[in-house]
Amino acid sequence: MSLLEVQGLEARYGLLSAVRGINLAISEGEKVALVGANGAGKTTLLRTIAGVHPVAGGRIVFEGADITGVSAHRRCASGIALVPEGRRLFPAMTVEENLLVAQSAKRDGPWRLESVLEAFPQLKPKLKAPAGELSGGQQQATAIGRALMTNPRVLLLDEVSLGLSPVAVHAVYESLGALLKTKTAIVLVEQDLQRTLDVADRIVCMLEGAIVAEGRAHEMSREQVMGHYFGNRTGVAMREAAA
Ligand code: ATP
Repeated sequence: MSLLEVQGLEARYGLLSAVRGINLAISEGEKVALVGANGAGKTTLLRTIAGVHPVAGGRIVFEGADITGVSAHRRCASGIALVPEGRRLFPAMTVEENLLVAQSAKRDGPWRLESVLEAFPQLKPKLKAPAGELSGGQQQATAIGRALMTNPRVLLLDEVSLGLSPVAVHAVYESLGALLKTKTAIVLVEQDLQRTLDVADRIVCMLEGAIVAEGRAHEMSREQVMGHYFGNRTGVAMREAAA
């Protein structure tokens, strides 16, 4: 049984259909990357799975239960965590407070303040600093750490390296290395295609709100993914590759 299943999912902004008939099944521990041009619907899909954007049609099933009507707060408490685009920290609160706030989810698991700081050592000297004063890389580390503090079974990571320097991106991915080996399923949106291909088990290409191609990461070349990215549907690694 899949850990998370999205069935015929629809999401809208007014009359605009941003997510159209998405079917996606994710297993425990699987690392799935969503790839697609700006406006393809990746962020909206993650936000809809997390429950912060309303479902306009279809179903979301988590651990065998229909959670389509469940609030974002309860989804988080049951093990779905979102690291949103733009990080959305509490800027006036310290790094430590930003991390501890997520403990209210009270799920058991390996992630607590000490283990998050072990994974993201760059945060140790910044614990008492207001989050708003951190560098972009430190803020991203805090945002990922905050999500980990809920001990998620599914981690939704939106635009991990957006706006970060190459050094900061490297540091964040170094820290993600350990997480990538765990049973936590990850759905990743990442502009850096090489990193995407390196860390993901499966690539899902989106165009205009729909999935247009899907395949195992090691079976898809950079060129094939780029082809789908720009709407070229003649690439070879279509859904059959995933079968
Ligand atoms: P990006 O990489 O630019 O974040 P994306 O693939 O994540 O792109 P979304 O941000 O989910 O795509 O956008 C999907 C569609 O919904 C686009 O047409 C976008 O213009 C539209 N959209 C996104 N946010 C809003 C909003 N708050 N109000 C209205 N339309 C929106």
